[in-house]
Amino acid sequence: CGIVGYVGPRPSEPILISGLSRLEYRGYDSAGIAVIDAQGDLGMRKRAGKLAVLRDDLAAHPLAAGTTGIGHTRWATHGGPTDGNAHPHLADDDKLAVIHNGIIENFSELKAELLAEGYTFRSETDTEVAAVLLGREYRASGDLVTAFRAVVSRLEGAFTLLALHEDQPGLVVGARRNSPLVIGLGEGENFLGSDVAAFVEYTRSALAIGQDQIVAITPGGVEVTDFAGASVEVEPFEVTWDA
Ligand code: GLU
Repeated sequence: CGIVGYVGPRPSEPILISGLSRLEYRGYDSAGIAVIDAQGDLGMRKRAGKLAVLRDDLAAHPLAAGTTGIGHTRWATHGGPTDGNAHPHLADDDKLAVIHNGIIENFSELKAELLAEGYTFRSETDTEVAAVLLGREYRASGDLVTAFRAVVSRLEGAFTLLALHEDQPGLVVGARRNSPLVIGLGEGENFLGSDVAAFVEYTRSALAIGQDQIVAITPGGVEVTDFAGASVEVEPFEVTWDA
């Protein structure tokens, strides 16, 4: 339902949590974050319930700080509002984390294919299929953008997907079809959000991602391509409303 991503020099967790709180107005039933820490390890925390439940859990059992992260508030469509069905979802090797808005219409057919290959699942969500597929494709190419390109061509329905991989710290990749995604441009840091509320506290300079496009953000840059891999020009705009 709500999506935020961050890469830059600052600890990502407070930025993710404040972005998620600005997206709370959309309604949600669960929340979670994933962060790549200074050692290059992926840490994740996710809880059913209000953002305060996640916040209290993080305060009681802190995650190692890291400057690359993604955060999600979920409005359940496939699988009840439980801790296990909350996002992020991990690939089978626990190195890659995914958050998702929308519905992957053909998830049961993709899940059957992956089950036949021996993969197992930890949730009832449509989203976990994308996480497992991205993990499989990452092993094939060693590159998250290439993995995204292979996976999005298999997905039907509506999705904003964000992912990070612990072997590529300092990178968050996103893709969208029939579901919104915007970039926030900072100085030495960049943001992704399901809407500008996710990052308006930090920057008012934004780019809207077009239909069927993939974006890669690093602290120093932003690259947008179509699903086939061709570069696309994106029009910048200024966020003018008061946040
Ligand atoms: N279909 C996904 C789920 O049920 C994502 C829902 C959302 O947009 O928050 O977990």
